[in-house]
Amino acid sequence: MATTTAPVQLDRNVTEFLRQPRKMLIGGKWVDAVSGKTFETCNPATGDALARVAEGDAADIDLAVKAARRAFEDGPWPNMSPAERCRLLWKLSDLMDQHKEEFAELETLDNGKPVFFSRIVDVPQAIEMFRYYSGWATKVEGTTVPISSPLGKFFAYTLREPVGVVGQIIPWNFPLIMASWKLAPALAAGCTVVLKPAEQTPLTALLLGELIMEAGFPDGVVNIVPGFGETAGAALAGHPDVDKIAFTGSTEVGKLIVKAATGNLKKVSLELGGKSPNIVFADADLSTAIPGSASAIFFNQGQCCTAGSRLFAHKSVFDKVIAGVADEARKFRIGPGIDPSTNQGPVVSKEQLDRICSYLESGKREGAKAVVGGNKILGNGYFVEPTVLVDVKPQMKVVREEIFGPVVTAIPFDDPEEIVKFANDTVYGLASAVWTRDISKAHKMAAKLRAGTVWINCYNVFDPALPFGGFKQSGWGREMGYDAIELYTEVKSVCAQL
Ligand code: NDP
Repeated sequence: MATTTAPVQLDRNVTEFLRQPRKMLIGGKWVDAVSGKTFETCNPATGDALARVAEGDAADIDLAVKAARRAFEDGPWPNMSPAERCRLLWKLSDLMDQHKEEFAELETLDNGKPVFFSRIVDVPQAIEMFRYYSGWATKVEGTTVPISSPLGKFFAYTLREPVGVVGQIIPWNFPLIMASWKLAPALAAGCTVVLKPAEQTPLTALLLGELIMEAGFPDGVVNIVPGFGETAGAALAGHPDVDKIAFTGSTEVGKLIVKAATGNLKKVSLELGGKSPNIVFADADLSTAIPGSASAIFFNQGQCCTAGSRLFAHKSVFDKVIAGVADEARKFRIGPGIDPSTNQGPVVSKEQLDRICSYLESGKREGAKAVVGGNKILGNGYFVEPTVLVDVKPQMKVVREEIFGPVVTAIPFDDPEEIVKFANDTVYGLASAVWTRDISKAHKMAAKLRAGTVWINCYNVFDPALPFGGFKQSGWGREMGYDAIELYTEVKSVCAQL
């Protein structure tokens, strides 16, 4: 593993953005927190302070919900035609495109991810999400329904209406992408929103807020309140005037969101953790399966809810697959994400680094062996070595729990029936993958895997049109595609006697 250190000149607008303390967006205005409090975000590559941000809590959430309610019920938003909403979403995507370098650099500085990936994955995917859902704004339709009542003749139809004021709580691993997955369908459906970004990574959501206002969205349609989960997040999840809460994050906090939502029985959608099986059969094309399996776990420093963190390889190819994935890990250029030659950055925070290291310790204590990696990288930033663990047993913590770091456990298998049992032996069910040249086997596996996504001979392929979400404790509901329009709408039946 090599390290990178090249000095980098930041975009002028990024330097300016970081210099100013960042406010929150409520009712179309950039305001300080009611408490006057602020917090610092840090650069995970150095541990240094990056920007100062207004710290929202329950009082600010309440103001933001009131602004969202006003915008939902009065003013221009509810009277806008679907075509006008379509044009606003498209205009926002164009503005994002004009600011794509600022987004990429800010995302990298705040989260740590290599700017190479921010440029080719995070920013373009977020822009495409708004483009895709701008098209849906004009296609949210009801149906006509034949009625068979003996009481007479009726004309009945359904309307699909926005669910109302939506609270959205997002994590730090793909901050801009997560903001776009949440905002784009909600706005296409005609909802108004209070968005709470993660405390570690609020910056790109705040830049997005500026462009939302520049695009011409009416005041209060989108409100952005940075702050902490236990205060701002909990207040949003429990707020009696929020109609729906959409959350992405840990399964543990997902359960708290469900409890908080019971007060007014707001609708809830959840995209939670995973421990995804990545299965390499003996007949796989190893020239794609090996780099694909490495990328499945190491992409984004392993901080993906879909990370292929349990690698199963047929015993006849196990040694070759493990050696190949370990070689891929050794090739990484590790360093500050802002260096364009880096392809493995720091993890997001000291807390996350400590958490990953405690899993590495637990693995070693329980008898796992690191073929490559296994340690944190000393220095000021939050770096950890990409790690492949072998000699692991199904009951070990490293096999059962989401590590959310660049750590994969590798297990050989023999019998194809047994592998289905192994793969499904988890409380999670977010994603999975199979690598094989046998198309029939691939589709049989796809039917048997209990996961919201099955990738065949690929990994982490996303598209705004392809629904995404989890079985079991990986979540409720599906984001993207038409499924996300359903998340943000209510169906109303209208029945008229003729
Ligand atoms: P959390 O689930 O705590 O964070 C996700 C979001 O929820 C953040 O905006 C957070 O706020 C907010 N939040 C935290 N507590 C509450 C609460 N009581 N009520 C409402 N909102 C709340 O994840 P962590 O950052 O703590 O990461 C811990 C683990 O979670 C990771 O190691 C990983 O396993 C998993 N995770 C999974 C993700 C996924 O995509 N499925 C994404 C991120 C983490 P804030 O951070 O601002 O305090």
